Amino acid sequence: MSKAPVRIDQWLAEASARLAHDKSQSDPESPAVDAEVLLLHRLGKPRSFLFTWPEHLLDEAMQAQLAADLDRRFSGEPVAHITGERDFWTLTLESNPSTLIPRPETESLVEAALGLPLADEARVVDLGTGTGAIALALASERPHWQLEAVEYSAEAAALARRNAARLALPVTVHQGSWYAPLAGRRFDLIISNPPYIDPVDHHLEQGDVRFEPKSALIAANRGLADIEQIALEAPQHLTPGGVLMVEHGYDQGAAVRDLFTAAGLTEVKTGQDLGRRDRFTQGVWPGENSSK
Ligand code: GLN
Repeated sequence: MSKAPVRIDQWLAEASARLAHDKSQSDPESPAVDAEVLLLHRLGKPRSFLFTWPEHLLDEAMQAQLAADLDRRFSGEPVAHITGERDFWTLTLESNPSTLIPRPETESLVEAALGLPLADEARVVDLGTGTGAIALALASERPHWQLEAVEYSAEAAALARRNAARLALPVTVHQGSWYAPLAGRRFDLIISNPPYIDPVDHHLEQGDVRFEPKSALIAANRGLADIEQIALEAPQHLTPGGVLMVEHGYDQGAAVRDLFTAAGLTEVKTGQDLGRRDRFTQGVWPGENSSK
């Protein structure tokens, strides 16, 4: 028996109502947004299509495809894994379970980095780049910066390279752990969204993080172990006056400022995300012969 065609405005209303009633969703993301993103992905249309063509009809095959997408969302799978992509900054990035899904909080680092008084041809490296989000956003805004990225997971490094190629942005991706592929090299900006969740944090059992690799999320020492390593080795890889900028949890600002200061960084300060929570800390390496 064939199914009657359904208007997209009808489908959206029903799909978001179903998602809103799903008790397994502890994710704060709005069911209406999830339904829209799934629909637009299958239609291959921009968001404006929803308002211009609310009467557009979904045929039986499309309804079956969307029903399968909704089932996956019901089982808790992140929308970015179902569609295989996520918007970050002004870019659409391919995303998959090999790494962290780009998050809006991380855009606050991109914005802060773009506000730094760096040279026109600054050398910049993104440590633990994942999808390539930070490096690619910076490359899209600053065509003269020399952007490199480091990623430990081979699968994620390949993903970052595909994103760079697809967007035609010149970012060199090295595979390895933190500074390992950068021996003897210095940068004007080192930027990173490393793992920083405490392994015992209960929020690891809720929402999208259940479907992301633990290696991209958690760090020993209450989530601070990787940030500590990045800070301690930064002076060996920064030019004098170079900046280290690292994302962290909303309650880790004071601890991260202490780690930066202990590493010999100056002008250490914490910045906030759009929700006004502490989200990243930056510091300047004054150089070997500074009087500090
Ligand atoms: N901000 C992310 C979260 O709390 C974690 C990102 C990370 O560990 N780098 O879900």
